[in-house]
Amino acid sequence: MSRYTDAVCKLCRREQQKLFLKGDKCYTKCVLEKKPGIPGMAKPQRGKPSAYSIRLREKQKLRRMIQMNERPFARAAAAASEAREASGDHLLRGLELRLDNVVRRSGLSTSLKTARQLVRHGHIKIGGKKVSIPSYPVKAGDVISLNGKLKDNVGVKLSLETAKKLNNRPSFIEFNEGELSVKVLRIPERAEMSFPINDQLIIEYYSR
Ligand code: SF4
Repeated sequence: MSRYTDAVCKLCRREQQKLFLKGDKCYTKCVLEKKPGIPGMAKPQRGKPSAYSIRLREKQKLRRMIQMNERPFARAAAAASEAREASGDHLLRGLELRLDNVVRRSGLSTSLKTARQLVRHGHIKIGGKKVSIPSYPVKAGDVISLNGKLKDNVGVKLSLETAKKLNNRPSFIEFNEGELSVKVLRIPERAEMSFPINDQLIIEYYSR
């Protein structure tokens, strides 16, 4: 499995959009604001981008936001195309309710990378059982808790402070600060999801 090891800010610069890949630094010292140009491109592109290029960029944006490799992402898009409901909604809901993303949105971590680390290292439980699969699909009613040993962890404290300041926890999750746990109250609406993209373009990209 390939892993991206270069500077993550280059990905935001490539997409010309903040993808929030660096945790709290994205809110204070964003590189995109200081260096707005596309990496490796001295002059702006001439002419209109093709329909293919527009769809490709939208797909890359979402894939980078959720930090997935191409193959699992394409599988998720293919599964969404076969769903009974609108394909785009199905795709986004599946990504939104991945365990690592719910941990990030709860404020237990400020970036997807650290949320994934918490899950992979066995610090996250669902209904009292350890779950170490970042892509685990969370369901409405699930209670996700953080290992009590991490209560005084500097990274977790910093993340919780940032979450408090930003006050951007979505209303489909209920956060219990004393227990450091999160309850998923319901399936999120489209407007509550964390991906500001055009899902239709992504579905079109994969159905070409
Ligand atoms: Fe993207 Fe965050 Fe870097 Fe800004 S600081 S360019 S949002 S990763």
